[in-house]
This record gives sequence, structure tokens and C-alpha cells, in this order.
Amino acid sequence: MTEALDYPSLPLEGDWYFETERAGFAQGVRVRRRIYAEETPFQALEIIDTDAFGRALVLDQALQTSERDEFMYHEMLVHVPLMTHPRPRRVLIIGGGDGGTLRRVLEHRTTEPTQVEIDGAVIEACRQHLPAVSAGAFEDPRAQVVVQDGLPFMRQNPGGFDVVIVDSTDPIGPAVQLFEAPFYRDVAASLADDGLMVAQSSSPLFMGGELRSQVANIRQAFPIVRTYLGCVPTYPGSLWSYTIGSKRYDPLAVTRDAIATRLAENHIEPRYYGPDVHSAAFALPPFIAEILS
Ligand code: SAM
Repeated sequence: MTEALDYPSLPLEGDWYFETERAGFAQGVRVRRRIYAEETPFQALEIIDTDAFGRALVLDQALQTSERDEFMYHEMLVHVPLMTHPRPRRVLIIGGGDGGTLRRVLEHRTTEPTQVEIDGAVIEACRQHLPAVSAGAFEDPRAQVVVQDGLPFMRQNPGGFDVVIVDSTDPIGPAVQLFEAPFYRDVAASLADDGLMVAQSSSPLFMGGELRSQVANIRQAFPIVRTYLGCVPTYPGSLWSYTIGSKRYDPLAVTRDAIATRLAENHIEPRYYGPDVHSAAFALPPFIAEILS
């Protein structure tokens, strides 16, 4: 059963929370318990416990991550770009307040990650009520965590990073600017001459228009742009896309052996990503290739 919280949070129908998509489609989870809710200066934050996915973070009524399927998203967001760069050390994460991305970056032992999250309340709430996602990453001495808007932070640090990972909410509220052309030019300027970036690029089925314009914006700033796919059941329609913009290294050129060796050297044992999944993820069904053409 659900408990009432002081803050009037997610609208439930009985015990169910339905996330409604613009295409007249809703995905639902049965809520066992409302764990925590807060109206932060940036967004409505809630952590719920669900039957199907365990604990989950919801921001502005959009499900961000869950205990059960977070690995499917975070492994693909992190390992694909980090395996593409031969020596990733200085890694910048923009957003990612739940800590799942930071955790996967730290699995690469040579990295010195900096995370810039605009909303400190997300980090605190997830640390306290959703600790399985970050699994201690915020306490790691190699991690530098800054609570600030990612955009000015990047402008203040030109040329400093090997990899930038944009782990943002969808293009609404404080994240709108993270999908626009000037932002990707700033990302390019914050990268070393052989640097690369990745961003989650939404649902090709339900947000094809957003995917198309995001990729067009990334193409304005990077010579090599590759979109790849994964499956994230808590996101609308499950099929999800990510896009890499790179100055020199092509994710398609990374060999199976190089990935297997690097995973072994770092003692990384992913549950979704792997050498075969890396190359398979770049195979695009015709309807998605058409969106991007
Ligand atoms: N995996 C998630 C998804 O795709 O739904 C994203 C999760 S993560 C919680 C997204 C984070 O991006 C949020 O905590 C939000 O506060 C942060 N964010 C949004 N705009 C930002 C900005 N301009 N600078 C830094 N962080 C930002």
C-alpha cells in the first residue's frame, strides 16, 4: 500500500502510477510504497518502491531510473564511449544525479571523473533512498562532484576532458539547453583534440523529431557522429537511443578483442554491455536510419 507524504506528489490510480506519453500511450508500474518526495528548486522529485522494478527515481513525472533496469541504461551510456577512447582519463558527467553513470565510469580504473549536477537534492535523495544505483560511487575519492549547471561549468574548463557524458533528463525544464547546438559546440570546446561525447538521445519511436534535431545539432560540432541503440524497459517503448560525437575516434572501429581485453583488465563484468553488444548496437533499423538521414 502507498503512504501519503506531506508533499502532494505523483498522481496514482489506485496503487498504479501511469506515465503518459504524448502519443496517447501510457506505461504503468504498481507502487508498493512512496519512499520520498520533494519539490526542489528545479523539479518535482519522488522515489517510489515498485513491484516490477524495485525502487525508482521520478523527476517531473518522468521515470529516470530503477533498481532493476538501471544497468541496461548506464552500461550503454558509459562503456560504449569509454571503450571508444583508447585512454579515457578526464571524464565529465553532466547530470546523472542518481550516480549510476558515475559508478560505471569509476569501473574504468584510469578515469578521474568529474560530475556536474544542477540539482543537489537529486544526489542527496538518491544517495539516501536509492543507494543500489550509485553503489558507493559518490564516496569514491576519485570522484569529484560539483553541484552547478553543467553549461557554465564546461565553459570554464575548455580543452580539459577526454570524454563528456551527458546524462540529462529529457529536453524539458533545466535540461532543454543540453540538447541545443550551442551546447554541443561548448562540449566540443571542452574536449581535448581527440575527445568525444555521448548523450542519451531519446526514443526513436516516440520522439523521432527530437532525435533528428539533436543529432543534427551534434553534427554541427563533431566530424564523427554515431547513434546506437539499447533497451531500457522503464523508458517509453523500451527502445532507447544514444549518440556519440567524436573528434577522432570512431566507435565502429573498436575491435572485439580490444573491448574484451579492457573489460578483463579493469575487472568489469557488465550485465548488458559486451564486445558483441558494442558493435550490434550501431545496427540501425531502416526507420531510424531514415530519421537520421
Ligand atoms: N537516466 C536518466 C534519463 O534519461 O531519464 C537521466 C537521469 S539523471 C537523474 C538526469 C539529471 O540531469 C537530473 O538529476 C537533473 O537534475 C540533471 N540536469 C538537468 N539539467 C541539467 C543541467 N543543465 N546541468 C546539470 N545537470 C542537469
